[in-house]
Amino acid sequence: MKKIIGFDIDGVITDEEHENDNIWHDAICNFLGYDIVRKSDSYLFDQAYDISSDVINKFLDKNLTDIYSQVKPVPLARETIRKLYNYNFEVNLITARDQGFKGLTTKWLKKHQIPFTKLIHNGDKVPHALAAGIELFVEDNAENARAFARNNIPVILINKYHNKFLETKGKSIYRVDNWQGVCQIINDFFKINFL
Ligand SMILES: [Mg+2]
Repeated sequence: MKKIIGFDIDGVITDEEHENDNIWHDAICNFLGYDIVRKSDSYLFDQAYDISSDVINKFLDKNLTDIYSQVKPVPLARETIRKLYNYNFEVNLITARDQGFKGLTTKWLKKHQIPFTKLIHNGDKVPHALAAGIELFVEDNAENARAFARNNIPVILINKYHNKFLETKGKSIYRVDNWQGVCQIINDFFKINFL
């Protein structure tokens, strides 16, 4: 029987971080024309920055397509997903990206040779994960991790500045720092030996 695993895309498969900050922060500074300081460690632009939602929407309209198409995958993410797919896993990708980006996202996954069984665009991930029978989900968003755990879907949460606040003790949430950690948990969780 196939094992069923799920992955978020942005911040999990995509490589958002670099030396100084991350691609979203760089893009917004570039758009504004100055180095804005984050006022909180939130994942959400309107909470992270002291700018109006109107400016945020203009920024997103102008930049999302470029960011989504130019971002690189984390090399170990790509390798691991390929391995799992060849190991007969069902690979479900669930992203909060707008449905309108499905074509772009599919093209990007093909370009980077990331195989998948299903690609779902929906911010409300739990119902889709339950319907697909996902046994373990890899995420970086704290709210999503909390929702998965509440619905008894174990989560691997990749540590990010914006999910530090989430209390994970006693929940089925495995915190890891990077994809080495993700691989280790997948290996142990499914009791496979693919590392
Ligand atoms: Mg994410």
